[in-house]
Amino acid sequence: MVSKSKNIPSFLKAYGLSGTTFRKQVIELFNGEGTALTQKELEDKLPDETDRVTLYRTLKLFTEKGILHKIVIDDNIQKYKLAGSFKRKDHAHFYCLNCHKLFCMPQLEIDPTQLPPGFEYYSARLVVEGVCNKCEKKL
Ligand SMILES: [Zn+2]
Ligand SMILES: [Zn+2]
Repeated sequence: MVSKSKNIPSFLKAYGLSGTTFRKQVIELFNGEGTALTQKELEDKLPDETDRVTLYRTLKLFTEKGILHKIVIDDNIQKYKLAGSFKRKDHAHFYCLNCHKLFCMPQLEIDPTQLPPGFEYYSARLVVEGVCNKCEKKL
């Protein structure tokens, strides 16, 4: 988690990226526990003059670098969230149906060696759905 906006340039630098104003804006929007956003939600939060192609490229770059996780909720919803300290690519995510936050669940690691013999592993998209602990208390 990037705690303060002044830390963002050094955060990006650690991934070999320069801290452009636009990149900083995008990272800032992802701050906060469990914050996960769709590309549309990002567009709505960014300034009106934001170029959609620039946003698309930035999200792609951040995902490739491992800064963001891209999580497929269903056919229509793909969310992005900060990978935080969980650099491991393929693990499950918990999706709260109440507050729509996403949490990394690195303890639920997807093990490609469990595939039947001769099967080739590409990627995994496991999403556990339910209600998070904060929402559970309010229900
Ligand atoms: Zn919740
Ligand atoms: Zn994750």
